[in-house]
Amino acid sequence: MSQPTSSGQIAAGEREDFQVSRLLTWLSVTAIAFLVGIGAKAWFAGHTTHAWVLWSFIGLIGLNMLYFARTGDQTRQKGGLIVIVGLLFTYLMASGGESNTGPLWFYVFPPLLFYLTDLKTGTAVLLFCYLIAVVVFQFPGLPLVAAEYSMDFKIRFFATLTFESIFCFVLEASRLKARNELVALAETHEYAARTDELTGLSNRRDMQNRLAMEFSRYLRSGHHFSIALIDLDLFKTINDQFGHDAGDEVLREFSALMRTVIRQTDVAARWGGEEFLVLLPDTSLLQALTLAERLRSRVARQPFRFRGQSLPVTISAGVCSIAKAGSLDDLLKQADVNLYSAKESGRNRIAPRVRSQETDPPVKPVS
Ligand code: GH3
Ligand code: MG
Ligand code: MG
Repeated sequence: MSQPTSSGQIAAGEREDFQVSRLLTWLSVTAIAFLVGIGAKAWFAGHTTHAWVLWSFIGLIGLNMLYFARTGDQTRQKGGLIVIVGLLFTYLMASGGESNTGPLWFYVFPPLLFYLTDLKTGTAVLLFCYLIAVVVFQFPGLPLVAAEYSMDFKIRFFATLTFESIFCFVLEASRLKARNELVALAETHEYAARTDELTGLSNRRDMQNRLAMEFSRYLRSGHHFSIALIDLDLFKTINDQFGHDAGDEVLREFSALMRTVIRQTDVAARWGGEEFLVLLPDTSLLQALTLAERLRSRVARQPFRFRGQSLPVTISAGVCSIAKAGSLDDLLKQADVNLYSAKESGRNRIAPRVRSQETDPPVKPVS
């Protein structure tokens, strides 16, 4: 039986992606605004080269935004922003920025990094940036390194940055854990809401949704579908003679058997009690009858046993195709009428009866 990915999960994923993209755009715009301001301040303070370097980062951020607007590639958007911001902070540290305050911008990096990447990548990038900071701090004579920092500043900078990084890591790890637990809980609830506990098949509500979807697909594109309403014969007698547990076991065993007989694209549901409904997409009435007949004969041949006792299990089914019905209600009603007539004519049979059923040919998927 096919179990399509829940549309709720897809929608949640899309919503999360949209939120991250919106945050990245917002961060990029804020960074541009800051760079314009800090660059202007440096310009008026007479540090024209510093101002131009800062403004050139505006171009890089703008290009990254443009790339995302054109491609919608969020992974590259994140990667691009991390590289640009990393370069900017490295430059600020190496140049000292205004009055040697450049390294302070580095405190923005750990939370941003852990938000934009996973914990492993974030830690790796952060360690790499630490390495750069060590090089810049220890070798002030290197080309492009203009700033020199006191030992006190260096020790405090690394100590506070390490503290912040560990704090960000722990917070992000617990945020992810809580998020994953919530997602797992939502999935469990969603699965339970559409699954029959005893048999593991779709429940009535899930089948009603699927029927509605299949019916609108039929109205849209004319794809025919059929249903088979299956009822276990004289099930009350099984319960009465062998006990309720035996009845439950029969329901489970029959469901497992039905799964092996229907196609991947078919959906089987427990419609209620000992009644089951199979939705057969892209299937004509004749093909549905053939499938139902195959299931009936498999059940009749299958030895159902419970605690060493042999149980007499057979099924009857009413089949109907959407081509013969005007609406979903009508389809279900006709299948029910056919089921009733199968019961009336002696049980362990499929209705309506057609000649070709007796030959039991293989069911072929409709092209
Ligand atoms: P028919 O061939 O006409 O369908 O006869 P039947 O005995 O199957 O029909 P009836 O509707 O009289 O009885 C259905 C029985 O199915 C009654 C009910 O107790 C039993 N049943 C419904 N749900 C369950 C279940 O979950 N477990 C068990 N063990 N029995 C169930
Ligand atoms: Mg019954
Ligand atoms: Mg019944």
